[in-house]
Amino acid sequence: MTHYDYCVVGSSAAAAGAVEAIRSVDPSGRLAVVSEERVAFYSRPLLTRVITAGASAEDLAYRPKGFLEENRVEVRLGARVDAVDHENRRLLLSTGEELSYGRLLLATGSAAKVPPVPGRDLAGVHTLASLADAQAVAASLGSSGGSTGPRTRSAVVIGGGLIGLQGAEALREVGLEVAVIEGLDRPLATVLDRDTSTLVQEVLAANGVTVLTSQMVKALRANPSDPARVGSAVLGDGRELQADVVILATGVQPRTELLKGLGLAPGRGFPVNSHMATPWPDVYAAGDAAEVSDLLRGGARPFPIWPTAYAGGRVAGLNMAGQQADLPGQVAMNTFHFFGLTVASAGIVEPPADEGCEVLTAGPPPGRGPDAHHRKLVLKDGRLVGFVCVGEAIDRCGLATGLIRQQVRVEGFRESLLKDFGLAPWPEEIRSKYLSREGILS
Ligand SMILES: Cc1cc2nc3c(=O)[nH]c(=O)nc-3n(C[C@H](O)[C@H](O)[C@H](O)COP(=O)(O)OP(=O)(O)OC[C@H]3O[C@@H](n4cnc5c(N)ncnc54)[C@H](O)[C@@H]3O)c2cc1C
Repeated sequence: MTHYDYCVVGSSAAAAGAVEAIRSVDPSGRLAVVSEERVAFYSRPLLTRVITAGASAEDLAYRPKGFLEENRVEVRLGARVDAVDHENRRLLLSTGEELSYGRLLLATGSAAKVPPVPGRDLAGVHTLASLADAQAVAASLGSSGGSTGPRTRSAVVIGGGLIGLQGAEALREVGLEVAVIEGLDRPLATVLDRDTSTLVQEVLAANGVTVLTSQMVKALRANPSDPARVGSAVLGDGRELQADVVILATGVQPRTELLKGLGLAPGRGFPVNSHMATPWPDVYAAGDAAEVSDLLRGGARPFPIWPTAYAGGRVAGLNMAGQQADLPGQVAMNTFHFFGLTVASAGIVEPPADEGCEVLTAGPPPGRGPDAHHRKLVLKDGRLVGFVCVGEAIDRCGLATGLIRQQVRVEGFRESLLKDFGLAPWPEEIRSKYLSREGILS
């Protein structure tokens, strides 16, 4: 059995943060990364480029060639960790190999939820969670209907969240008729306010992507001329839409199967403290699989976004290598582009009336097409707790996310934030405190 000072399960954002942090403290400890995927350290947010542009694994690389060698990482790809024996500090791999570890990071991420819709096993029905998934969608586009059947013309995407809409845009870009079926009454309901999700829906419609809201897919039916493949989607109201390819995008769930012994409830992530340590000795967890503290709402939950995964992995790596570091409370943030419309949001975007929040807006209401410039700020107790920006109003929104994260009192310059997130109008004392907390000034 090979012994490693550090073992990391997973090879994505959280794993990269951990590897870099470990090496910043301990240049020589033995470090292994184990991943069931055959390609390590690629960017999941860029996956749709495989569909639109035939991007290769190298095109999606998240770290430069040589990253593994430079960081002296011994990598095992195509190897799933099947069990963690935390009492004896051992990992059992699907290849039959056993590894022992000093400290372990579970950076196992999340898996696509697959809705229990009949027909989900037909060829042409995909999730969009990994490089292999994106490659399978791309392959499906060329093969629908078999060699004698019609070419792929129509797609149905089940789920109007970020991944679903990214998939829909990509399928439209390659020339398909695309319908998105969303169970709620608007797309992107968890990350945008109603006005902005309406705008996104309009922009999608103007570009040929229909979003049907408050609708369910009841069943997927086979293509009569190729019964192994999907051919249509039947909606709750009885309508039947042609569907030569289907993407299931109804959310993700943390992959926690390796700590079954903790008795986690379904859908819950690994519990961790602020050092990213799980209750099991020397076992850490980070990324989509871990539940981290929610700065604005309190409590802990998974934040399935890339920056939180990287930051959590980094904090875990520092602690694993013997330095003390804490992950601060997290704030949900997203930036996305659909057919030329750019939108950014963070924190609380649609506060309930009884929460005592104040809403400030600038620019025309969203809903005036992709050229609309719109900024909405949500304040509570003199602090910024959320924003939505459309078009050029997203400029420097990273500074605004920092204001939320640091819980800075913004009363003195709130009007300026409506126009410009730049630092110039901020009071000097706030500016220098902000910059030093962000690690820009020491
Ligand atoms: C299509 C798509 C678009 C996205 N767009 C955005 C975006 O625009 N912005 C954003 O912030 N976030 C986006 N995300 C989310 C973001 O990619 C995730 O938050 C991030 O990848 C999480 O990183 P992670 O390291 O926790 O795990 P993951 O990236 O999920 O990787 C976990 C890895 O661990 C491996 N693994 C799991 N279990 C085992 C095991 N037992 N043995 C071996 N290996 C194992 C998995 O195969 C996988 O390779 C997107 C995700 C997808 C799928």
